[in-house]
Amino acid sequence: MTPTSEDRRDVAARLRHEADGFRRLENELGQLTIDLGEVTAVFQDVAHFAGLDGTVRTCVLLDRLADLIDPTCHVIPGEEAVAELKDGTRLTGVPLSCGHVVFGVSAKDMPKFCCECGSRITSGGER
Ligand SMILES: [Zn+2]
Repeated sequence: MTPTSEDRRDVAARLRHEADGFRRLENELGQLTIDLGEVTAVFQDVAHFAGLDGTVRTCVLLDRLADLIDPTCHVIPGEEAVAELKDGTRLTGVPLSCGHVVFGVSAKDMPKFCCECGSRITSGGER
């Protein structure tokens, strides 16, 4: 079975939902962390290959895995980017949370994906 984009978005959404749950718990209990030196070797490998080592917040681990499976970004509200071409032409663009800018569109008319990094552009609180 080949995973579809919908399968990947579902898995990532579940990971993000779980991360949100851990963040809510941290409000009551304080920071919740995982010492990756104390988990099974296969889990250490998964975390290491995802770029995480040592002691990490549980929500950070879950968000990292979600971002690798289904990278997302969103429009940064209320901001506009401006670039000036060599001929003096000024272009306006919409800045994204991934750090890139989409030029030639309005925030209401965004493409589905960032043309620089491929992150899925989300809106309305969706992640
Ligand atoms: Zn991007």
